[in-house]
Amino acid sequence: MTKISLNEKTSKPNNKFKKFFVNLWEMFCKLFFPSKIKCVCCGRDLVKPADIEFCEHCKQKLPYLKNYKICKVCGTDISGMSDFCISCKSSKREFVESRSVFIYKDNVKKLILNLKFSNKPYLAETLGAEMAELFKTLNWKIDVVIPVPLSAKRLKWRGYNQAELLTKSFCKYTNLTLNTDVLEKINDTSQQAKLNYSERQTNLLKSFKVKDKQSIKDKTVLLIDDIVTTCATANVCSKVLKNAGAKTVYVLSVARTSVKIPQEKGLDSNKKLI
Ligand SMILES: [Zn+2]
Ligand SMILES: [Zn+2]
Repeated sequence: MTKISLNEKTSKPNNKFKKFFVNLWEMFCKLFFPSKIKCVCCGRDLVKPADIEFCEHCKQKLPYLKNYKICKVCGTDISGMSDFCISCKSSKREFVESRSVFIYKDNVKKLILNLKFSNKPYLAETLGAEMAELFKTLNWKIDVVIPVPLSAKRLKWRGYNQAELLTKSFCKYTNLTLNTDVLEKINDTSQQAKLNYSERQTNLLKSFKVKDKQSIKDKTVLLIDDIVTTCATANVCSKVLKNAGAKTVYVLSVARTSVKIPQEKGLDSNKKLI
């Protein structure tokens, strides 16, 4: 009892002062630097210098995968006794491990859709920093970082490759070597929603090409994408890179679809999500 009242006596005035100065600072900022930037998730004005594209309130609610049990290979959230998801138990993965920062749901979905379809390439800065934070907790020794490429048609349509922007931001925070000129997507594969997994793999395999074999020869490559769904793209890119001489491939993405949440059919190849 005594402890509580003492704490109250000592901490309350400090909190009041802190709150007062924070409010004063926010009023000052609003008055002299009216914010045009709003939280992508909730629409609140972002005034504190620490806020980038989403507010602290929304950040705390984001579904970070570090709070879940995940498959040791593909990084999707799982439950039960096994260390692996059903897909990793039954199909061969060409990469060593794949990890993602978030589960693809709620506000994370909003963030990624904004990055891809609302012409907000600056979101890649914050999301790349989030990927760098996760990377620091992993024991991966990486030689070169490569983004999953877009086809020329898709690149022309969007004006930028979101995976490349994420990779650039990620490398800025990790000091790793970036190479955007290794992998190329020669065919547009946005129309393969009707294909099954193996047909899609065969189709994808013909779509990626390594332009610069020398820069990945005997190297450990980190492949970066915005979202991993069925692992089809990650798997095929890893195979193509290894066939061209890469030693091993790891995969890192902003978000991973959950095996527990029913997804739209053909999400990996859905025109809207590529
Ligand atoms: Zn918010
Ligand atoms: Zn898995």
